[in-house]
Amino acid sequence: MINKARPVIVVGAGPVGLCLALALSQAGLPVVLIESATDAGFLDQVPRAGTNHPPTLEMFDRIGLYEKIEPRGLVAPVFHYWDRADQQLVAAFDHISLKDDTKFPYVLQCERIKIVEEAMKMAKVDPLIDVMLGTTFLSFEQTADGVDAKIAAEDGTHRVIDGSYIVSAEGARSAVRRQLGIEFEGFTYPDRTLNIEVAYDFKKHGYADRNYISDPGEWSNLFHWVGPPDIWRVHFPTKPDEDPEKLTSPAELQGRLRRFLDMGSDFEVRGSNLYTVHQRVAAKFRAGRALLVGDAAHVNSPIGGMGMNSGIHDAFNLADKLIAIARGEADESVLDRYERQRRQIAIEHTQAQTMRNKRILNETDPVIRRKNHDELKKSAEDPVLARQFMLRASLINSIREAEAIL
Ligand SMILES: Cc1cc2nc3c(=O)[nH]c(=O)nc-3n(C[C@H](O)[C@H](O)[C@H](O)COP(=O)(O)OP(=O)(O)OC[C@H]3O[C@@H](n4cnc5c(N)ncnc54)[C@H](O)[C@@H]3O)c2cc1C
Repeated sequence: MINKARPVIVVGAGPVGLCLALALSQAGLPVVLIESATDAGFLDQVPRAGTNHPPTLEMFDRIGLYEKIEPRGLVAPVFHYWDRADQQLVAAFDHISLKDDTKFPYVLQCERIKIVEEAMKMAKVDPLIDVMLGTTFLSFEQTADGVDAKIAAEDGTHRVIDGSYIVSAEGARSAVRRQLGIEFEGFTYPDRTLNIEVAYDFKKHGYADRNYISDPGEWSNLFHWVGPPDIWRVHFPTKPDEDPEKLTSPAELQGRLRRFLDMGSDFEVRGSNLYTVHQRVAAKFRAGRALLVGDAAHVNSPIGGMGMNSGIHDAFNLADKLIAIARGEADESVLDRYERQRRQIAIEHTQAQTMRNKRILNETDPVIRRKNHDELKKSAEDPVLARQFMLRASLINSIREAEAIL
């Protein structure tokens, strides 16, 4: 039986918190969704990418979100590996090799901001979701059968709300995780990544909508996003001690872009930013009635587009368990299984794969580079190997592996 009196408290209306709230409410569970951004400022967020892999699209479809974001995104079945040093296409992978594995044999390039905008519209009209914008979570206490969360409204007033569970979807700086003293184990790369947004059609030069470009000196990622105007994001490595102002100066940005592709004139740069990359996983994803999901539980390099995807997979995994508990179909021990499944995937799949992706792009040893490229080429050209490669890259394997963890 579903307990309508005590909502699940979800902290953070990023893509993970919103998906969790919608999955719970659609199964009849009430939710209080706490978000520190105000209604007026909600869409005023730093742009972050959003390569949405097939299992994530299946999850969006389950809550009715896919049909809202598909028209705002770009269906991209193919991605490329390039060798910048030799100016050569190394391998082209096509999601069509997954046509028997998923309803969505492609990625949807749709930025995080569009996803949260559409999901927030759905949450606001959902009668079982109490959306509390402009509200910041402060701390919580838990007993054997519930939680009390202390929150601050925009005007600074505090109040306490009562719930059955508290789920931190607050992102990497999770206050719930810090209150619980759960260690965020891992490391931070000393160098930052430079993201430049350019209004230019790189397809004219043979690139796909998603490109991973290896180079011993200056690797890149190149991704296409729907406009208007259409934007391509180009990522470059930087050195740890480089001055951020110099790195993002117009001359430096044009210099980087023209070294990458010289058309004899300047590019139309639409924006740029530097970001720090962490590889960290929380030591625990559960402490009694408190649970961690998404970036609150794990953060990783964006090479491979896995952070938001794996966070959304956490949300649906946890939603199914909270729904089963509420319906009396499972006891609370399933929440420990949530931790076992999603923590192992975060370490052995997401973190391992994104670290491997970075190593392939910035490998300097010519023999290893050649070997990496030969393997990629072989994988792309052999249909059996291509499907195996794509099952891993698309995160379908990570979902199947999680199911096998008891
Ligand atoms: C440059 C870049 C590119 C990326 N590209 C990709 C990609 O292509 N694919 C991919 O899968 N991932 C990508 N990622 C990672 C992705 O953006 C994150 O993994 C994802 O946004 C995490 O979602 P989340 O909902 O867990 O947390 P967030 O998106 O960080 O959302 C957390 C929310 O919680 C709110 N909040 C925080 N603290 C409180 C509090 N105390 N009280 C109330 N509210 C609070 C915040 O305001 C925010 O709205 C990229 C990241 C970067 C930096």
